[in-house]
Amino acid sequence: MRRLFWSAAGIVLTLAIAIAALTGTRSGQDFLLQRLVAAVLVPAPAETFDGLRVFICGSSSPLPAANRAQACIAILAGEDIYLVDAGAGSPLTVNLARLPLQNLRAVLLTHLHSDHIAAIGDFNMLSWVAGRPAPLEIIGPTGVAQVVAGFNEAYELDGGYRTAHHGADLLPPDLHDMRARTIEAGRVLEHNGLVVRAFNVDHRPIAPAVGFRFDYKGRSVVISGDTVPTPDLLEAVQGADLLLHDAISLPIIQAFEKGAQAAGAERQAKILHDIQDYHAPVAALGQLAQTAGVKQLALYHLIPPPQNFLMERIFRRDLPAGAILTEDAMVFDLPANSSDVIVR
Ligand SMILES: [Zn+2]
Ligand SMILES: [Zn+2]
Repeated sequence: MRRLFWSAAGIVLTLAIAIAALTGTRSGQDFLLQRLVAAVLVPAPAETFDGLRVFICGSSSPLPAANRAQACIAILAGEDIYLVDAGAGSPLTVNLARLPLQNLRAVLLTHLHSDHIAAIGDFNMLSWVAGRPAPLEIIGPTGVAQVVAGFNEAYELDGGYRTAHHGADLLPPDLHDMRARTIEAGRVLEHNGLVVRAFNVDHRPIAPAVGFRFDYKGRSVVISGDTVPTPDLLEAVQGADLLLHDAISLPIIQAFEKGAQAAGAERQAKILHDIQDYHAPVAALGQLAQTAGVKQLALYHLIPPPQNFLMERIFRRDLPAGAILTEDAMVFDLPANSSDVIVR
């Protein structure tokens, strides 16, 4: 035993001396870096999951939180990727997970609040650079054409710079501008076995606002967008495998509101008061999921995103056991023709 200890210690010591020697010289640093780069830049394995895969690229709301981007959910069906909303910070989460953005087929917007649209320019540019073979479609309720026209104008110079620098073969200008498609409730997309339906939600005074249901190979995911629970939502959610729902913790937000009033921060207090009537209170969601026969309830667009153990406890206390508070980069796998919901 003692012999084993000394030989292990000898190996560790020898390695430490070798690393110290290598990192202490320019040629040693370059040697190590080249090997690290080779290990990091190998292409991600071309694994195609058979089923619906859901990647949380943003679990937060406008209230700021470290390590959380604003609203964004990626749906992977076969090789196709769709995004529901594109909040600030979400491209970083997607890039760190190395999702193959050349396969991004469309961004679906639930409504046109800034915390849901801020990153569509980034996603357009990133997927274009990655080799997306067709213009990016931005699908959303009335107003989406105005938003897309504005982004296209703002990014026109950037697109021109990149084509001039890398060449039109690599970055074709005709694939740069996004295309807007205005939708209403109903079937909005059908491709390679995936069916997407939009349903109206209640986020007044923001109207129209929608949620989306994805069905693929016998599996289903519903994304609420920002809303209070409504009859249309309850109908869309029936029997879903996974419901990702917007959620506000009223006990926490009301404590924030009182705190802002006590501190004389009238503007913050007013905003914290106003937001309480157009998001789903945590306490309503367990009942909704149970009534609709949802297999897995998961909360996103967290208001506020829990910043510590106490806030997380309060957020969870009105939720049924098994409900999930999502975090960025969380993955839900729904294998084809199965009832499993695998959370990673
Ligand atoms: Zn909103
Ligand atoms: Zn929002």
